[in-house]
Amino acid sequence: MIDFETLARPGIRDLRAYDPGHDLISLRRRFAEAQLVELGSNENPYGASPLARQAVVDALASIHIYPDPLGGDLKRALAATHGVDTSRILLGNGSHELLMQFAQVFAGPGDDVVASKFGFAVYSLAAQAAGARLQPAPAHGRDHPMPRGHDLAALRAAIGPRTKLVYLANPNNPTGTWFGGEDFEAFLDDVPGNVIVVVDEAYAEFVDAPDYASALPLTARHRNLVVTRTFSKAYALAGLRVGFAIADPGLIAVMERVRESFNVNAVGLAAAEAALADTAHLQASLAGNAAQRAALAEALRARGLKVSPSQTNFLLVEFGANASRIEANLVARGVVLRPMVGYGLGECLRITVGTEDENRRLLEALDGSA
Ligand code: PMP
Repeated sequence: MIDFETLARPGIRDLRAYDPGHDLISLRRRFAEAQLVELGSNENPYGASPLARQAVVDALASIHIYPDPLGGDLKRALAATHGVDTSRILLGNGSHELLMQFAQVFAGPGDDVVASKFGFAVYSLAAQAAGARLQPAPAHGRDHPMPRGHDLAALRAAIGPRTKLVYLANPNNPTGTWFGGEDFEAFLDDVPGNVIVVVDEAYAEFVDAPDYASALPLTARHRNLVVTRTFSKAYALAGLRVGFAIADPGLIAVMERVRESFNVNAVGLAAAEAALADTAHLQASLAGNAAQRAALAEALRARGLKVSPSQTNFLLVEFGANASRIEANLVARGVVLRPMVGYGLGECLRITVGTEDENRRLLEALDGSA
């Protein structure tokens, strides 16, 4: 008998794989006729740009050949959009892949990785898989204006001599909270230059808060700063797996050494480039999300629920001691939300902001299952 547990490196032995939520494939089969309302994975309910769909069709003619290993066309389009040189861009098979690789490259046994207590689950996975130790920083309290959000002072205090990497999400998943541009700049000025700071901006396009600022422009001045973005959310291409990072060219060059040469497939490259060009479609998605986010938050608050402020396409909602019963009742009625037990937030559920129709069906199911 081979014991694969003991063959695996120590960090991997203790690892629990990323929990993607419910088994949606079997739920979809079960609710085939009635249509499942899927509000568990922060996808974009308005769908991909028609230009991106056409690019997918066009790309099918060439799927027997390898994709461009450099992703040159997409990088040039991103460079033009974000006003940076292509040497500052790293493409990923989703931003998840890149988040994992930062720890693989910059942290290992004996090193610390710092992240906020309620930061995105992948940060602790990345640290552990690299053999490093995750050093969680306390988050804001539940009664703070940014409930359970990143506490930049606590994150700074958690950085010690062994810290190699810090992960922050702005806005954050699963809390939906954000931190202001000026506060982040002060934080970054105070972080030692040899600590890599990764700011995960997966939801940045959805933001309309005036105090928010993307960290992207700061990458020109701060060589230890990395910003990650994704085509999975606002650009509605989650199924194609395209993400990217922007940072100093030297940092990108080191990361390139571990990148699988064809990590972004040909269909994804073409679709992402087309999606980027369709600003009207993006703006329509963002406007739909902003309106529905406000309406859904108001409807939930009117039912006496505590809803965290959100600058994303989801809401973190406190349901109290009955959260898991309510969640199970909703699944039985064909409405899928994301349980938060894995985050130590068993009293909360995370709700993706759907279309007006999906949100109405959620509220009806909620009223019927309370
Ligand atoms: N960062 C955050 C904060 C996320 O919520 C997600 C997706 N849930 C990701 C990164 C990863 O997204 P992707 O790999 O699809 O780019």
